[in-house]
Amino acid sequence: LFIVFEGGDGAGKSTQAALLAASLEQLGHTVLRTREPGGTPVGEKLRALVLEHGHGDIDARSEALIFAAARAAHAAQVIRPALAQGTLVISDRYVDSSIAYQGGGRSLGERRIRDLNEWATDGLWPDLTVLLDVEPADGRNRRTVADTDEDRLEAEPDDFHRDIRNVFLRLAAVSPVRYLVLQAQAPVEELAERILDRVQGLLP
Ligand code: C5P
Repeated sequence: LFIVFEGGDGAGKSTQAALLAASLEQLGHTVLRTREPGGTPVGEKLRALVLEHGHGDIDARSEALIFAAARAAHAAQVIRPALAQGTLVISDRYVDSSIAYQGGGRSLGERRIRDLNEWATDGLWPDLTVLLDVEPADGRNRRTVADTDEDRLEAEPDDFHRDIRNVFLRLAAVSPVRYLVLQAQAPVEELAERILDRVQGLLP
């Protein structure tokens, strides 16, 4: 089972991913937690490269290709092998982040970014995507110091983050079966409970 957390910056994805992983482990499952951009040694380097340089240095198409390259390695070398062993994989971000940030935020086109990533991952899609929906202004306030340290999107206008939010919501609306949409500002424990509930429904 492949579960992905998506949402804007400051939505609480890593917190919920960690809580879900802990609960599933307690239930006796083997869990792999991973993240994007990153996920492999090369992927982490590509993450650092993109975060370090930001929009000024890296044009939008290069950025989209770098994320897709990192994701190709992540899917082939980490996610697929883990799934093949029956491990539950939980990823902080995946293809939908690229559709939202590069396709929507950077206006490269959602369809094109989707197709690029369909190819990059050889068609590996999550069984469930948990979208933690957050208003851009809330997200900004919720960011931790650790986030802002490496966060190159701090300077992006609210419009950019609004576009991203709208893409996520639209993706979720077209495939309700594959998505769980939650309001990120709900209490942490309540969110964790609802996510675990939904995931347990998918377990054999
Ligand atoms: O999820 P995390 O905060 O670790 O992501 C690091 C940064 O990369 C964030 O600022 C996020 O908005 C950005 N990002 C992006 N395009 C993606 C994935 C993440 O611009 N496809």
